[in-house]
Amino acid sequence: MSHSLHPQTLAIRGSKAQTHYNEHHQALFLTSSFMFDTAEDGAALFAKTKQGFTYSRTANPTVSTFQSRIAQLENGEAGIATATGMAAIQAALLTFLNAGDHLISSRSLFGTTAGLLTGHIARFGIDITFVSQTDVSEWEKAIRPNTKMLFLETPSNPLGEVADLEKLAKLAHENHALLVVDNCFCSPAVQRPLDFGADLSVQSATKAIDGQGRVLGGIVCGKNELIQQIALYVNSMGLSLSPFNAWTLLSGAETMLLRVREQNQAALKIAQWLQQQPQIQQVYYSGLPENPQADLVRKQQNGYGGAVLAFEVAGGQAAAWQVIDRVQIFSKTANFGDVRSTITHPWTTTHGRMSPDDKHAANIREGLVRISVGLEYVDDLIWDLAQALKGE
Ligand SMILES: *Cc1c(COP(=O)(O)O)cnc(C)c1O
Repeated sequence: MSHSLHPQTLAIRGSKAQTHYNEHHQALFLTSSFMFDTAEDGAALFAKTKQGFTYSRTANPTVSTFQSRIAQLENGEAGIATATGMAAIQAALLTFLNAGDHLISSRSLFGTTAGLLTGHIARFGIDITFVSQTDVSEWEKAIRPNTKMLFLETPSNPLGEVADLEKLAKLAHENHALLVVDNCFCSPAVQRPLDFGADLSVQSATKAIDGQGRVLGGIVCGKNELIQQIALYVNSMGLSLSPFNAWTLLSGAETMLLRVREQNQAALKIAQWLQQQPQIQQVYYSGLPENPQADLVRKQQNGYGGAVLAFEVAGGQAAAWQVIDRVQIFSKTANFGDVRSTITHPWTTTHGRMSPDDKHAANIREGLVRISVGLEYVDDLIWDLAQALKGE
């Protein structure tokens, strides 16, 4: 095609594995293995002198379709899918890091990722330095001769702090290191880290790609040469995505751009409404126009802030818990990116394992509430928050 297709078209038409039955929807190849026509054929497939499928841990047509479609949305050459977002992060890190290497990571991390780094990656002899999400000079000072990778997620959870991807990519490449970005909070509907120099964009497909709270999945996208190396790791470690989940996630991807845009607009409206409520001390949302990082948000996130925002209510934990206990529409759960809006208390859930001092240092306070805005009618959500704040 001489015409370059819009991501909305790619999300629906980007790739497909077609059988001779002429099915219209992507077929679900729910099979663990594939047959060979002859013994010679089997030998050729295993020797990789012939292209084809052998076993679904290694490759599967439904999973390949999913990988190719998300890679197109991320503007990457290729993608490798995994069973969960955490498996994608593990694969992106451990394919390239060896004992004796050094990793620099933002301090503002999803809780399980922080646990993966400090509890597991570190015990394999990989040194880790944690630095500020936003202060590039801290990253510069942390560089060592053995630094192999820079890792972060942007915007951060739950406060929406934005990292400068172009500056960090330049720093990484000047030092022969890879920049790996967790793109979960924005999704490729809003942000494409590879466009700003990241080497790998990683995400949990469980969030915006599914968007309907059904299945777990993950994917890493980037240059083909890097993805092929990660694919070998995923195959050996058995981190592969199931074909059923890939098929479900493909349906999710088809509507992702529309959902995410609508959810982002609703999140902005709610953030601006919250700013006017007397019980609210502070609203954290990267999409607010007065955000000091608004230029970066325009550049990296197409001006959108994502579906997740946080706000601090006066009165600490008791007041935050009251709001959470009084909402009638929002689901009390820590997941996000779903069509169902959710509400949670970071201090005691997602960030519960951090010490109180570390939480305060990260600006996560007892009165902080995090919501993920779904696709319910936005004025109903505002009504729900209003009655919960009023508390009658
Ligand atoms: C949810 C999440 C993950 C982990 O994804 P799973 O699919 O739950 O394994 C990783 N990073 C971020 C930022 C997340 O929000």
